[in-house]
Amino acid sequence: MGVLFLFDVSVFAEERLVKDVVLAVHGGTAYARADVTPEFEKLLRQGLEHALRKGYEALQKEGATSLDGVEAAVRELEDDPAFNAGRGAVFTREGTIELDASIMDGKDKRAGAVASVTTIRNPVTAARTVMERSRHVLFVGAGAEKFAADQKLDVVDSEYFQTPRQRDALKRYLERELQSGDRPAGLEKQGEKTESKKSGSTGSSPHGTVGAVARDRAGNLAAATSTGGMNGKRSGRVGDSPVIGAGTYAENASCAVSATGHGEFFIRWTVAHDIAARIKYAGQSLSQAANDVIHGDMEKAGGRGAVIGLNSRGEFTAAWSTKEGLYRGYVTRDGQISVMLYEE
Ligand code: ASP
Repeated sequence: MGVLFLFDVSVFAEERLVKDVVLAVHGGTAYARADVTPEFEKLLRQGLEHALRKGYEALQKEGATSLDGVEAAVRELEDDPAFNAGRGAVFTREGTIELDASIMDGKDKRAGAVASVTTIRNPVTAARTVMERSRHVLFVGAGAEKFAADQKLDVVDSEYFQTPRQRDALKRYLERELQSGDRPAGLEKQGEKTESKKSGSTGSSPHGTVGAVARDRAGNLAAATSTGGMNGKRSGRVGDSPVIGAGTYAENASCAVSATGHGEFFIRWTVAHDIAARIKYAGQSLSQAANDVIHGDMEKAGGRGAVIGLNSRGEFTAAWSTKEGLYRGYVTRDGQISVMLYEE
């Protein structure tokens, strides 16, 4: 399997469409270049590449499904402290770590999710387990933890998730908040614009959620998303990532989508489902639908973020409204891996 670092030179929606993709991942929207050391940039590239490789390997196995591909890729990103999911997740303002994840099967619209979990090592696997071994779609908090323990999933002490990098990020966030009298991220009043850097949602503040979309040999799609949420969120706050139709959606007839961004907006605009609905009901192309949703009313209202999308023909697209772009990558059917950072 070769590794290529390709560059998307175009900013036009249609040209951002890539063909013959079997798996794609994102590692959240990008930090301002000036804030990223070459060493950290290398870690980001490597992390995305490893996730793509793991996901691709999972897809190659006899009888593998797109669910196996997205779960393997997202687990890898959850274990990687460079990304805001699993180990390396952001802190709540109370100094805890609360993780959200979801997964969806495009073949039959089965879905599973967990929210506000603190000890489940791989929330994406917990989400898949909810989907496959319970009658429910979304488990939260203590009930989710108990379900995971009953199902013998890997459980860790919450300290496992904590990194000095994110502890510093929380400290800086709380200092900024104190200086500006700002409300914490995600607690702006409904309808309030959040374009100023003070809100923490634009400028160099990234949305480091991770996600994957995949297509298996049978042409079935799947999507998965996992996150620590937004830096400095209040304990108990749940974003879009575990909400089916907001941060994650998969349906063979339209597309698979995983999102990252300011979750409150992504929930209100039902971003992932809106992209699928435009394809299904309005006949839009994948890239047109993704760009229209990301750059439509939500952006005007101050909602920033990004999506990756894949359809059953293997067409992949990414769209973002953040300044610096999206950490992302994809692998084609023949195993060629491409990783992109920023507005490349
Ligand atoms: N969408 C996530 C949330 O709002 C955050 C992110 O993408 O970084 O919880």
